[in-house]
Amino acid sequence: MLLDGKTLSNKIKEELKAQVNSLIEKYASIPTLSIVVVGSNPASEIYVRNKIKTANSIGMNAEVVNLNENVSMEELIKVVDNLNDNKRVNGIIVQLPLPRHLNEQVIIDRISNIKDVDGFGLLNKGKLLAGEDSLRPATPYGIMKMLEAYNIELAGKNALVIGRSNIVGKPIALMLLEKNATVTIAHSKTKNIGEIAKNADIIVIAVGKPKFLTADMVKEEAIIVDVGINRDNGVLCGDVDFDEVSKKASFITPVPGGVGPLTIVSLLENTIKAYIKQKTN
Ligand code: NAP
Repeated sequence: MLLDGKTLSNKIKEELKAQVNSLIEKYASIPTLSIVVVGSNPASEIYVRNKIKTANSIGMNAEVVNLNENVSMEELIKVVDNLNDNKRVNGIIVQLPLPRHLNEQVIIDRISNIKDVDGFGLLNKGKLLAGEDSLRPATPYGIMKMLEAYNIELAGKNALVIGRSNIVGKPIALMLLEKNATVTIAHSKTKNIGEIAKNADIIVIAVGKPKFLTADMVKEEAIIVDVGINRDNGVLCGDVDFDEVSKKASFITPVPGGVGPLTIVSLLENTIKAYIKQKTN
């Protein structure tokens, strides 16, 4: 069965739209996301456009602060500080990757914890580790929402996460653990991934390599979540050999139309959560 992120995200968008509407009535201000973009990167531009379009479609503001690619750390910190102080701005994200001369974690940690809607700041990361309520990274948060929406029980399941990035692999491993799955994390130095994968009831893969996960690595009835976004001969695809693996899997996400659409709505949900916190504090 297909884990249909597009349909689910449309349903969540309708719910968020109604919520935004009533928040605007209650607090007389529009939830606002600010996106800091340094330099120009065609892939980032598409992501940013999608975030703005989706935010506007549910009645939120999303605005871009464009900075020259040669911007200094001091100037960028000043921009973030101004957004932190700006009462109209409820959520701040800095579009990654940043040019090499800028220290990403220092910039991310400069964002006020209450406006850190990507959840990449140290406090929000630490809260996730501790199992506390926090602003959680959008991609893994969206995956958990999808598993929940399809009533997929995680307790006691063997879950394999392939990839250990700070934005996907590590946080999704923690979220699966929080739901009582038995979690294994594989990475580029892992030996015999195929053997480990064959034992997994659920596999979340975020590696960035087309057709990395093949049918011979997957057991019958496994649940497959494909986070990858790749181009294979110009065609958009994930990390899973979808045609073959889908014959064995009980549930599988397509690419496109799986994890991606939920990432954006989860980011907007975080922004609404931040807005409410700011209004009620
Ligand atoms: P990343 O930072 O490049 O990390 C890739 C991970 O894959 C690393 O942990 C790496 O291991 C591991 N890896 C690389 N080669 C491997 C191999 N041969 N065997 C096992 N593990 C291997 O990637 P990311 O930012 O997490 O993104 C991963 C993919 O997801 C990309 O295609 C990205 O575009 C996509 N993505 C999609 C969304 C969405 O909304 N759908 C969001 C974020 C990312 P080491 O740590 O050992 O190097």
